[in-house]
Amino acid sequence: MSPLSYRMLQIAGAPAGLLGLEELYVALHDEGISPDSSEIRLRLIAGVQQHNFIPKSAEADYLNALHSEYARYHRLRQAGKAVVARDYGKWRGYPREQIPWFPTLSAALCTHCGACLETCAREVFEYDQDGKVFVAEPFLCMVGCCFCKSVCEPQALLFPGQEMLNNYREKI
Ligand code: SF4
Ligand code: SF4
Repeated sequence: MSPLSYRMLQIAGAPAGLLGLEELYVALHDEGISPDSSEIRLRLIAGVQQHNFIPKSAEADYLNALHSEYARYHRLRQAGKAVVARDYGKWRGYPREQIPWFPTLSAALCTHCGACLETCAREVFEYDQDGKVFVAEPFLCMVGCCFCKSVCEPQALLFPGQEMLNNYREKI
């Protein structure tokens, strides 16, 4: 049996690691469940709880993040784009998805000027359907870089402290 996928989602502005999310999205889509379906929220929570602990008090925040991510996944699949679990490579021997280094965008401060998107060479940022900038591919972010932060005038981009990276010693 192949191991479950592992990735991080930003839940209410903080990264949370989740097991089995890719598999859940594939199953829901293949069952024909759309993001507008009346059962989608229950199915998302129940599916994620199979492999992860979700504190009751954070359920609404998880649901919002899971739902908008599923809507994005569903949109790509409906457009005929193959959504394959992306290989983000490794960093110091750890799967990139296990390193919580990426920008977190403050919705309260961001003016959606696009400077970060134009600065980043790694396609971490995208515009959404309303022309608002969001962090679309956090694991494409280069670990240790914070270039985009320096061009963000309202200081809307947050990163963890560099010292966090010392927790990840080189794996042989
Ligand atoms: S540079 Fe800052 S303000 Fe401009 S879009 Fe990026 S995060 Fe928002
Ligand atoms: S830190 Fe560097 S790699 Fe990461 S999003 Fe910003 S500019 Fe791109």
